[in-house]
Amino acid sequence: MSAVWFDEKEVPLIVERSARAKRTRIRIDRTNRRAVLVLSKRASERAGLAFAQSKADWIVRELNALPAPKVFADSFSFDFLGEPVVIRHSPKSRRGVWKTDGVIWVSGEAEFLPRRVADFLKREFQSYAQKKILELAAALQVKVSRITIRDTTSRWGSCTRDGHISLSWRLCFAPPSAADYVIAHEVSHLKQMNHSPAFWATVAMICPTYKKEESWLKRNAAFLYSFTV
Ligand SMILES: [Zn+2]
Repeated sequence: MSAVWFDEKEVPLIVERSARAKRTRIRIDRTNRRAVLVLSKRASERAGLAFAQSKADWIVRELNALPAPKVFADSFSFDFLGEPVVIRHSPKSRRGVWKTDGVIWVSGEAEFLPRRVADFLKREFQSYAQKKILELAAALQVKVSRITIRDTTSRWGSCTRDGHISLSWRLCFAPPSAADYVIAHEVSHLKQMNHSPAFWATVAMICPTYKKEESWLKRNAAFLYSFTV
């Protein structure tokens, strides 16, 4: 682990080398709340670190601007696919995790609660997404081979030529219209594997509000990344 200095304080810095990076840059890893120096294939590490040091004030400003981390716990409330829910810890029950009207019940020890809630939300989001994806795939007459829910760091969704769609589980904290847009976007890629006007015409056909949803996701990315597990 490297570091830059700001106001006589050490700010940790991860150094990564990327074959794809065209130039040295710094990105903020919002999931782990730290800065990453991305070096292109031939860039010298020393020059990269000097570059990072020259950007120390920007790094500190970006890290400080991240919303406070949200940790799942008893009484914590949030919106799940647009529905307000609250977590209730029920240590003595033996039912695992289950949901009734507006309440997510979690049994077992408190230390395992955050992980169990996250796993539950991922499963729920998977079945939500699966239903939507299959509906849209039928409408567009395309074939989906696999659906994966992951914790992606740079994109909300992706799609391969052979029909494997991946989505970020964090979309479950967005309004359903925004999650539906990402789903529509990825399914549309099975018609066109590019971002051509024909592709956007397909997106607009199945998700007329896509511009609004895209801007919501841009403005609220830090919020979606503030949920920690
Ligand atoms: Zn795309």
